[in-house]
Amino acid sequence: MSLQNIYDLTYEELNNFIINNCSTDLKKSGMRTNQLWKFIYKKGLKDILHFSNIPDELKNNLKQQLSFKRIDIAEKKISNDGTIKWLLKLQDGNLVETVFIPSDKRGTLCISSQVGCTLNCKFCHTGTQLMVKNLSTAEIINQILVAKDELKDWGTQKIITNIVYMGMGEPFYNYNNVKKSIAILKNNQGLDYSAKKITVSTAGITPEIIKAAKEISTYLALSLHAPNDELREKIMPINKKYKIKDLIESCSYYAKINKEKIFLEYVLLKNINDSEHCSKQLIKLMSKFPSKLNLIEFNAWPGVGYEPSDQETVQKFYRSIKNSGHIVTLRKSRGEDILGACGQLKTESQRKPKSL
Ligand code: SAH
Repeated sequence: MSLQNIYDLTYEELNNFIINNCSTDLKKSGMRTNQLWKFIYKKGLKDILHFSNIPDELKNNLKQQLSFKRIDIAEKKISNDGTIKWLLKLQDGNLVETVFIPSDKRGTLCISSQVGCTLNCKFCHTGTQLMVKNLSTAEIINQILVAKDELKDWGTQKIITNIVYMGMGEPFYNYNNVKKSIAILKNNQGLDYSAKKITVSTAGITPEIIKAAKEISTYLALSLHAPNDELREKIMPINKKYKIKDLIESCSYYAKINKEKIFLEYVLLKNINDSEHCSKQLIKLMSKFPSKLNLIEFNAWPGVGYEPSDQETVQKFYRSIKNSGHIVTLRKSRGEDILGACGQLKTESQRKPKSL
């Protein structure tokens, strides 16, 4: 029987686990939880034998019932611009990617929520890989722990300052595990990332956006990519299910509850969504709810049928949004040479055929 993974447990669950499964002085369970949490998430220790000030009996007890093992690194690639991409091998053999993007003021870790994806957005490389599975909470958290090990980021000054759920998969189709992982990330006795240091990106799953407003309450990014249903449906099939009008409604609600603007992601695709007509429609949409726009350069990948917009068009599009008074940024592509940029992630993992 495989052991339960400690990184699947929230602080409260770990506390209950100790109370229910370990012969420990119950009065001390809270203190023990706190000690364990700090060893794991503040110091980054992974061998329980190195945890000081915990009685041997409890250590043995925990070791017999919980796994503290990290997932393995299968491959590491470093881009010319300093971006690092790790290919991680999960315990079930599946592969998933995590990317670290350093910049002057911050270090952003881009993590995956699924192996593969169900959405099939036409411009996204992950979309060509069929959905394999949802990541467990432990597998999501492990991406951060492994990156912190690699970057020697267990000191008081954080190297990874921001976490974005923008890797492989749709976070809101793995809602419960993503929600739990965010509770672990936010806990200030451990990894201690505040709501303003975490961004969850979604292709737009309306019911989950509403739920997440109160349950997740980090920054929210919406991958919009088209300003009308007709075009959005062509490039993002999910729009057949959740229309732009519903997305705006749910995002308005999210923004109201969290008192923060929603980031709109918009990849500029040559002759597809980069016309003046599109920018005008986009301006109208943006006036309907508190939002700011992130224009993204399209990153090509083998076999894709789209091209990036030319620089002149990008600038024109950017200026028209800016002149309308809305906040807009042009995101530079990072890690393109190692296929580590937005929309380039894909692994060899495939769904296993059902055994007979
Ligand atoms: N499923 C979620 C999380 C993935 S985030 C979502 O759609 O938001 C990955 C981001 O990269 C999304 O905004 C996605 O639309 C964008 N993206 C996908 N393919 C891209 C490409 N080829 N070039 C640039 N950005 C891309």
